[in-house]
Amino acid sequence: MVGNTLAAALVDSGSRIVLLEGAASVPWNDHDYDLRVSAITRASERILQSVGAWQGISGRRLSPFSDMQVWDAGGDGHIHFDSADMGEPYLGHIIENSVIVDALREVVREADNIECRVGSRFESYQQAGDYLTVMLDDGGVIECSLLIGADGRESAVRDAAAIAVQGHAYGQHALVATVSTMLDHQQTAWQRFLPSGPLAFLPLADGRCSIVWSTTPDQAAELVELDDDNFCEQLGAAFAHKLGDITATSKRACYPLVQQHAQSYIADHVALVGDAAHAIHPLAGQGVNLGFLDAAALAEILLQTAQSKRPLSDPRALARYQRWRKGDNLSMMWSMTAFKQLFGTQIAPLRLLRNMGLSAVNGAGPFKQGIIRHAMGLSGDLPRMARSGNG
Ligand SMILES: Cc1cc2nc3c(=O)[nH]c(=O)nc-3n(C[C@H](O)[C@H](O)[C@H](O)COP(=O)(O)OP(=O)(O)OC[C@H]3O[C@@H](n4cnc5c(N)ncnc54)[C@H](O)[C@@H]3O)c2cc1C
Repeated sequence: MVGNTLAAALVDSGSRIVLLEGAASVPWNDHDYDLRVSAITRASERILQSVGAWQGISGRRLSPFSDMQVWDAGGDGHIHFDSADMGEPYLGHIIENSVIVDALREVVREADNIECRVGSRFESYQQAGDYLTVMLDDGGVIECSLLIGADGRESAVRDAAAIAVQGHAYGQHALVATVSTMLDHQQTAWQRFLPSGPLAFLPLADGRCSIVWSTTPDQAAELVELDDDNFCEQLGAAFAHKLGDITATSKRACYPLVQQHAQSYIADHVALVGDAAHAIHPLAGQGVNLGFLDAAALAEILLQTAQSKRPLSDPRALARYQRWRKGDNLSMMWSMTAFKQLFGTQIAPLRLLRNMGLSAVNGAGPFKQGIIRHAMGLSGDLPRMARSGNG
C-alpha cells in the first residue's frame, strides 16, 4: 500500500521509477470481503485523493464510520468519540487492503514514468559512485540513484543497507475474520479491552463487521481451529454481546504482532517508508496511516529536490525526510506500547486508574477533541498532500 502510494505521488517528478512487487497479491473481488481491512484516517484519505486513487477506492467498496466506542472489560471506564462533536460527517473509513492496492495499481499502471514489475523481488545492491546497481531474484539488474524500501516489516532493503532494527514481539497474535451480528453496527468502530488484548469490531458496508481480536498466541491458535458455532459463541462472549449474538463468520487468519523501529530511515542513496521503517500494534489502527504520511512527506521532499535540479539521493533531502517523520512515528509507537501495557495489567490500582482515566477523558471536551483530531490525522506537521484543501 505504501510503496504504490509513493510511486503514484511521484508521477510528476520527471524521474523514471521501477516499482517492484515481490508477491502477486490476490486482486480485490466484489463477492467476498478481504479479511485484511484498515481503518483509514482523513489524512490518508486526502493523500489517496491527491494521488488519484480515492475515486477507484470509493468506486469499489468502503465503509465510513462516524463513532468510536472504547471500553474496558475490567471496569466501567468508557470513551465515546462522535464525528458530530468535531463538526465532521465521519471519523474515517474501513477499507479492504486489496481495494487500496487495486486502486493505487490502476494509477501507477497508467503513469508513463512508472514501470511495475510484479513477481520481481529485490535481493541486494552494490554502490558505485552516485549509482546503485540493484539485483533482483529473477536475475534482473536495475541501475538507480535512489532505492526506497517499502517492503514491509521484514524489509530486505533495510537489511541490505545494514540498517539495524529494534523491536520485540507484543506477545499477542491478531485474529481476523468477517462476522455477522444480530444488532446493527451503527457505523461505529467498537473496541473492548480484555486482559489478553483488545477486541475490535469494525463496521463494513454490507452490515457485517471485520474483527481484529488481539490475544495470546495460544488462544489465537485455539480460536482459529474452533468450528464456526463455537467460535461465534466465544466471540460474542468476549465482546460482552454488545452487538447481540454473532450469527455467522468467515474463515479466519492470524498474524503475530511486533513492535519494530529502524534505527535510521535513511542510508547512502536509500530511504525506508511504512512498515519497513516502523511497525506498531494495530489497536489504534494507525500503522498504514503513518506509512501514507511517510510516503507523502518523502514525495514532497523529492519533488522539491527534483525541481531544484539536485539529485534525488541528496543526503540533506533524505535527512530532512527522516527528521520530519521519525518523531511522529516514535511517539505513536510509544503510545501503543503504553496502551497495551496499561490495559494488560491486572494490578487493581492501575485498573482503577485506567477506568477513571478513560471516563475522565470522555468528559474532557477539548482534550478529547485533541486526541481524536490527532487520530484522524487532522493535526501535527502534515505533508501538503494530507492537508485540508492541500494548502
Ligand atoms: C491485523 C492487523 C490489522 C491492522 N489494521 C490496521 C488499521 O486498521 N489501520 C492501519 O493504519 N494499519 C493497520 N495495520 C497495519 C498495516 O497493515 C501495516 O502498517 C501496512 O500493511 C504496512 O504497509 P506497507 O506497504 O508498509 O507494508 P506491507 O503491507 O507489508 O507491504 C510490503 C510489500 O512489499 C512486498 N515485498 C516484500 N519484500 C519484497 C522484496 N524483497 N522485493 C519486492 N517486494 C517485496 C510485499 O509483497 C508487500 O506487497 C494492521 C495490521 C495488522 C496485522
